[in-house]
Amino acid sequence: MRPARREGPILRSRPRPVRLDRQPPGSARQSPSDDMLGLQRTAGNRAVSDLLGGRPVVQRHEGSEPEIAAAHVVSSAEETDLPAVADAPALVTEQDELLTERKPLAARVKAAARNAPDVAAADRVKQIDDRLVEIKQQLALRLKGDEAVTLEHNGYTGGTAAWFADVKTITFLGRPATVHKLLAERLAKVEKALKDLPVPPDGWVSETHSTLRKPGQSLHSFGLAIDLNPLTNPFLVQPTGQPIYEPTAWSGSIRDAIEHAALLVLARRADDEAFFTRPDVKDKDARVEASYDKIAEASDALKSYFTLTDADRRAELDTLVHAVKDKDPKHRSAEDWIKLIKADRQTVGSLAAPDRKNWSHPEHGFLNLDKRLVKAMTDSAGAGLTWLGDDTVSPGRDIMHFDMRGVGPITKIWNSVKGGRGGDTYLGGG
Ligand SMILES: [Zn+2]
Repeated sequence: MRPARREGPILRSRPRPVRLDRQPPGSARQSPSDDMLGLQRTAGNRAVSDLLGGRPVVQRHEGSEPEIAAAHVVSSAEETDLPAVADAPALVTEQDELLTERKPLAARVKAAARNAPDVAAADRVKQIDDRLVEIKQQLALRLKGDEAVTLEHNGYTGGTAAWFADVKTITFLGRPATVHKLLAERLAKVEKALKDLPVPPDGWVSETHSTLRKPGQSLHSFGLAIDLNPLTNPFLVQPTGQPIYEPTAWSGSIRDAIEHAALLVLARRADDEAFFTRPDVKDKDARVEASYDKIAEASDALKSYFTLTDADRRAELDTLVHAVKDKDPKHRSAEDWIKLIKADRQTVGSLAAPDRKNWSHPEHGFLNLDKRLVKAMTDSAGAGLTWLGDDTVSPGRDIMHFDMRGVGPITKIWNSVKGGRGGDTYLGGG
C-alpha cells in the first residue's frame, strides 16, 4: 500500500523519478543533476509538509529482533510518558489548533522585510513548532501503546513482548520477509502450493517484500500483512470521499486515465462497468479470480493506451477511435485522443514518482503478479489470505497487499489517535 517509502537518508538509493512523457529523438533530455535537484527540492518540501501533517506517510520498518521490540513494546521508561487513551483526542485537537494558528504567523514571518523582521510572529512560530514536536512524540508513543490494546481486544493475552518475539525474518519465494509466525505458516502453504508449478520467467516475485512497519500502520505493524512486488503493483484507491493514503485528486487522476484507456481500448464506458467496483460474485475464491481478471484487463488496456500515440499504431488508433465514437461522450477525434493520451501519460508519470505513489514503470500497467500466485495466497483451502486487489475496505485496490484480516486473530485495530478524529478501529491497507 501504499506509498512504499523506505526509511533512511532521503536520497540514498532512491530510484529516479518516473518519466513517461517521451521525448522525440535528438531533443534535450533533463540531465541527471536536474533530476537530483528536483528530488532535493521535493525532499525539503516533504520535511515541512510532514511536520504540518500535509499528507499521509506510510513508512516501512526493517529491523533486527531488538529493533522490532524497541519499536513495538512500550518500555518501562516510556510507560511514565505514555498519554492515556482518553488524552489522545485533546492532543489531536491541540495539534490541529496549533497548525491553524501557525499558518498566518508563518506567512507574516515570510512577508516581513529583511530589515524589519516580525520578531513576535517568529517567536510564536518557534514555540508552536516545539510544542508540535512534543505532541508528535506523545501521539507516536500512544500509537505504540495502542498495539497492546489491540492485542487484548482481539483476545491475545500474551502481551506485545511475546507477540513481537514471534515476528521473524523468513525467506518467502526466495526473498526475505519479516512476518509473524502465524503469517509465516500461511506463506509456507503458498510455497507448497506453487512448488510443482512452472516458475514464471522473472520468478514468482521480483522485488523485495515489504517488511514490518512501525505502530499505527495497519496489519503490517503486527507482521500479519505482506506486499508482493510493491513497486509494480501499486495501490489505486479512493478517488472520491475522505482521502485514505493519498489525496483523492491523485486517485481521481489515475482513475480518469484508466477509464480513458478502457473506453478507447476496450470500448467500455465507466457507466458500463466502473474500474473501481468489485465483481459481484459470492464465492470468495471465484471473486478473487474475477477481480484478478478485471484488473489484468484494465492494466493491459492502460499499457496499450499509452503507446497508441506511436506513429506505427496510427491505423489501429483510427480504427479504435472510429469504433468508440458513439460511446465517447466527447466524440473525440484521433488528434484529440493523442492529446489526451499524452496528458494522461504525463499526469500518471508524475504521480508515480518515488516520493508520491512510488509506482515503477506505469507504462507497463499496474499488475505483474502471476495469477497462480494470487490464487495460492488467497485459496480458502490453503493460505486463505485476503487480497486487497479484491477485498477492499473502500472503493479502491491495493494490488500489492495480502493480509490475515479474514482469518484473524486480529480483526480490529485499536487506534486512539484516529479515535480522536472520530473512528477508533480500522484495518487499513497500505
Ligand atoms: Zn500493504
